[in-house]
Amino acid sequence: METDPSLPFIAPEMLSVLISPSGRQLDANEAWLSVFGNDLWGRLPPEDARFAQEHTTEAIRGGQVLHQVYLVPSRGDEPIPVLLHFHPIREPDLEPGRFPVMVTGEVMREPVSWAAEQTRRRRMEMLGRMSMGIAHDFNNLLTAVVGHAELLRSDLVHLQAAADAHGHLRALEQAARDGASLVRKIQGYIRDEKKERAEPVLLHEIAEEVLTLTRPYWYNEPRRQGIAIRVESELRPVPPIMGTPTELREVLVNLVLNAVQAMPAGGTLSLRTARSGTSAAAVQIADTGVGMTESVRRRIFEPLFTTKGQAGTGMGLTMSQGIVQEHNGRIEVESAPGRGTLFRLVFPFSHDTPKPASKVARVLEDAPADGLRILVVDDEMMVRTVTTKLLRLRGHTVESADGGPAALEVLGDDDAFDIVITDLSMPDMSGRELAAAIRLRHPGLPVLLLTGDTDAESADVDAVVKKPFELDDLVAVVRRVASGAPEADRRR
Ligand code: ADP
Ligand code: MG
Repeated sequence: METDPSLPFIAPEMLSVLISPSGRQLDANEAWLSVFGNDLWGRLPPEDARFAQEHTTEAIRGGQVLHQVYLVPSRGDEPIPVLLHFHPIREPDLEPGRFPVMVTGEVMREPVSWAAEQTRRRRMEMLGRMSMGIAHDFNNLLTAVVGHAELLRSDLVHLQAAADAHGHLRALEQAARDGASLVRKIQGYIRDEKKERAEPVLLHEIAEEVLTLTRPYWYNEPRRQGIAIRVESELRPVPPIMGTPTELREVLVNLVLNAVQAMPAGGTLSLRTARSGTSAAAVQIADTGVGMTESVRRRIFEPLFTTKGQAGTGMGLTMSQGIVQEHNGRIEVESAPGRGTLFRLVFPFSHDTPKPASKVARVLEDAPADGLRILVVDDEMMVRTVTTKLLRLRGHTVESADGGPAALEVLGDDDAFDIVITDLSMPDMSGRELAAAIRLRHPGLPVLLLTGDTDAESADVDAVVKKPFELDDLVAVVRRVASGAPEADRRR
C-alpha cells in the first residue's frame, strides 16, 4: 500500500499511557508517543485538551470514561479522531481521587483513508467554489438570453424593426456561445484532473486494502458497542482496470461505511471481486442490514440525500457515483428492507496493458487443426461457455461439466477425451481433487489447471494456466500437453 510521506506516521496499534494521580505522564508505549508525544494533552486543540484533562481527573476519582478527541497535525491538515478510554487503576489501598489512570486510545482513521478524505474535501471545496462562480455567471447569461428573446419577440411584432431583431439575435448567439465555453472550461478541469492520475489498477488489491483500512469501523468500533460484524471476503484476482487508486479506494470505503452503518445490530459484510462478462471486472459489497425501501433506493445518488439526519452528509454515494462514472464504470444496487443491500461496481478492463506477444502460440495456431477432444470443467457458467466456445472456434471438439463429479461422469470409462481443462476452486471438488481422481481412473489423460490463483503450483497436474488467459497461450499449452511434450516454458 502506498503511503504519502507528507502525512504524519500513525501507529495502527493500541495507544496507551499511564498517568499518575497527580496527573503526570508516567509511561507511554511507542504508539502513544508517536501520536501524542511526551506532553500528555499538549497536541490536542484547547477544547479537546480541556475535556481530556477533565476525564483524567474523573478517572483519578474512580470513573470510567470513553471519549473521542481530535488531534490536529502540525501542518494544519484535517484533524484525526482518536477514541480514548480512561480507566482508573483501583488499587485497594488507595482512596478514590488517588487512583493512577491508564488511558488507551485508538486512531479511528488511518493515513490512506485520511488522505482520500482530504482529496475528497479539497475537491468538494473546489467544486463548491467553482459552481458558485458558475451559477453567478450563468445567471447573468440567462438574464441576457431571456431579455433579448423578449425584446426580439416584441421587435417581431413590429415587422419593420428587422435590423434590431438581427442585433438581438446576435446577442443571443453570443450569450449561448459564452455559456458553452464556460461548460468546456469545467469539463477541461475535470478531464485534466482525471487524466493526470489514471493507471492500471487491480480491483482485488484495492478491495483488500480497503478492508484493512476500514477495520476500525467494522471490527474495533462495533466490538466496543457489543456488536459483531462478520466479514466474508472472496477477492478473486481480476485483470487490471484503468483508474485512480485513491479515488477507487474512496468509493469502496464509502460503501463499506454505509454497509456497517446499515447494520446497527451486527450482521455480515461481504466483499467480492470477480470478472463480469469477458471485458469487465466487478467488485461487490453486500450487507445484511436494514436495506432500503424502493423510494429511498431511487434517491440515494442525489446530492445531500441522507436518511441519517445530522450524522449523514448525503454525499458519499453522490461522490462515489461521480468517480465510478469517470472510470467508465457503473453501479448496480439491489436492496430489500430488513434483508440487506448489495452494491456492485463494474469497470471495463484496462486496454493499456500491453498484451504479451506469444510467437510460439501463433506458430502452433497456424499449424493445421488437429481437432483435440477437450473437456472443460468450471463451476462458473460464463467461464465454461466462453472457454468452450473459444476452443471450438479453434477446431477442437469440446464438452463441458459444471464440477468435478459431473466431469467424472462425462469421462465415463472409455478414453473419449485428449485433455481435461479444469478450474481450481469449485464448491464440490477442487480442480486438484479432480486431477487426482482422473489419474486413478484414466492414467495418461492430461489435466490442465486454469486458475486465478497467482502462485498455483503445477504439482499434481500437467500444466497450469493463469486466469485471465490469452486464448493463444491456452491453445498453445493445450496442444503441447495433449501431445505429451513436457510443458517447458510456462508463461505467466
Ligand atoms: P450518508 O451515508 O451520509 O447518508 P450516502 O450518500 O453515503 O450518504 O448514502 C445515502 C443514503 O443511502 C443513506 O442515508 C441511506 O439511506 C442509503 N444507503 C446507502 N447505503 C446503504 C446500505 N448499505 N444499506 C441501507 N441504506 C443505504
Ligand atoms: Mg455514506
